[in-house]
Amino acid sequence: MKKLIGRLMVSAIFFASAIMINDSQIELVLYAISYVIAGGYVVKKAVYNIKEGEVFDENFLMSLASIGAFLIGEAPEGVAVMLFYQLGEMFQSYAVGQSRKSISNLMDIRPDYANVLRDGDLVTISPEEARIGDIIQIKAGERVPLDSTVTEGSSMLDTSALTGESLPREVMVGSELLSGCINMSGLLKAEVTRPYSESTVNKILELVENASSRKSKSEKFITKFARYYTPIVVLVAVLLAVLPPLVIKDATFGEWIYRSLAFLVVSCPCALVISVPLSFFGGIGGASKNGILVKGSNFLEAMAKTEIVVFDKTGTLTKGVFKVRKIHSVTDEPGYLLKLAAYAENYSNHPISLSLKEAYGEEIDSHKISHVEEIPGHGISALVDNIKVLAGNDKLMEKFSIPFIKERSAGTMVHIAADGEYAGYILIADQTKEDAARAVKALKEQNIKDIVMLTGDSESAGAGTAGELGIDKYYARLLPGDKVEKVEELMSRKSEKGVLLFAGDGINDAPVLARADVGVAMGGLGSDAAIEAADVVIMTDEPSKIPAAINISKNTIKIAYQNIIFAISVKVLILILSTFGLTSLWAAVFADVGVAFLAVLNAMRALTYTPAPLS
Ligand code: ADP
Ligand code: MG
Repeated sequence: MKKLIGRLMVSAIFFASAIMINDSQIELVLYAISYVIAGGYVVKKAVYNIKEGEVFDENFLMSLASIGAFLIGEAPEGVAVMLFYQLGEMFQSYAVGQSRKSISNLMDIRPDYANVLRDGDLVTISPEEARIGDIIQIKAGERVPLDSTVTEGSSMLDTSALTGESLPREVMVGSELLSGCINMSGLLKAEVTRPYSESTVNKILELVENASSRKSKSEKFITKFARYYTPIVVLVAVLLAVLPPLVIKDATFGEWIYRSLAFLVVSCPCALVISVPLSFFGGIGGASKNGILVKGSNFLEAMAKTEIVVFDKTGTLTKGVFKVRKIHSVTDEPGYLLKLAAYAENYSNHPISLSLKEAYGEEIDSHKISHVEEIPGHGISALVDNIKVLAGNDKLMEKFSIPFIKERSAGTMVHIAADGEYAGYILIADQTKEDAARAVKALKEQNIKDIVMLTGDSESAGAGTAGELGIDKYYARLLPGDKVEKVEELMSRKSEKGVLLFAGDGINDAPVLARADVGVAMGGLGSDAAIEAADVVIMTDEPSKIPAAINISKNTIKIAYQNIIFAISVKVLILILSTFGLTSLWAAVFADVGVAFLAVLNAMRALTYTPAPLS
């Protein structure tokens, strides 16, 4: 970049001295030197590309136009074409660099070092070198280098870089720390739970870095467009230079070659080629600023066309934190029933399991547990202290032909059986997320055709949640496989270009995340499977980010189209003017650089766009 500026300045000095000198011989030499300094590189690249079989690119257009100008005795114009073209290029690469930088600033969550306790001493190592089980120390003001669990101390954590959430989160012994967050107040010691390569921060960085490699349809269109467009332009330019002088009386070759050169300069599709990807790049950056990670331009583009939104219930619309409402034990020992359930659920990460373990509250002796089998959509079977324990829903009881108490209740029933005998049930209840109803309302205002909820939970639990949130359509008692089938059925109902968006938490629904046109994971503070399978990850786990993401998508596409239309219309206008000899080569170069400049500025708006808060 600095080298280029230097080159252009030297070139400009030669250019200026050439203008001032009156000797036409020396003048020409000075122009030639100026040209080689400014544009030698472009010509070289054009020649190289021709050898590679890629004839019609912008290097070729510019070389042809500028050398042509020299040949017809318009040396100053030839130099000017190169100088301005290079100036434009320089600005573009500056703008791209700028937007890349602001994205990486947003994503400036990469920890530089970790302080590890080794043999009682504190050693500073790079996060990559840390191992699972290492004890790390994080001082106030430092970034958490690795995913870990607090073993000592308590503090407030700034998670805004990961979630866009400005409210600090309180952590204490036993709390999980996510890499990338900033420790705000106290001194913390924590045990590393994942190597750096699998850490949250590394996953997110990889995701963002790869995002721009997945091209949107508009980007692909522009690339294709340029491929056909440029040869056509060259052909027209040749015809323009040759035909009129032959056909029209009094028309000279010099005059028409000049016009055709101007035509060539304007026709350079730089602004188009650069500004559309830049808009999407900005859109992805703007989304990540709002705690929404989009894995590619294609997904950002698709979201604007959402027709059907399908939500998973547990963990997506609800908090996934179940409180025990009632324990009904057949043997009159409620504490024992809860213990059996907590032991059986020990190895599961299902929200129900976590809640039961939380409710049990005591240390679990994992030596007593074996033969654990998680049956998705049903529950758990495990050997606890040599008792075969089943914990799950009515389907699980039916599967093992165990008679159980049927009761219609607003919560979720976890039935428990011991050695084939029904032992009782634990009634647990979840809460809907604060913003879930707002999200549904906003989606309705966005004219989403269908809002659907899927759940593996009971009919009554499903009806309760759907009713509370204003969701008209729900399907309950679904196994993970049924969810995929339902989504496929719903997909067949949308229009050809319409998009089905599925939002889930990745637990028991990763296949659906992968199957939907756009899979959105509430994966920010949890499941890896979700981050893996999804196309969009919502860091705050807030369903209201879905209507926000759709708004960001629409805004980005609007900006990209504005750029396409603006660039094409200015070009067409100047092309017409140059055909009739109404513009000079100078004006043509200016127009080209100017359009690129404005398009880039416009694209930057995608980066700073924030969707209005939901009412
Ligand atoms: P959702 O579709 O609401 O996200 P899941 O598909 O994860 O729910 O689970 C469906 C149902 O299966 C739960 O409501 C519960 O009744 C039962 N279930 C699944 N896993 C477990 C488990 N680990 N323990 C108890 N019950 C479970
Ligand atoms: Mg679920």
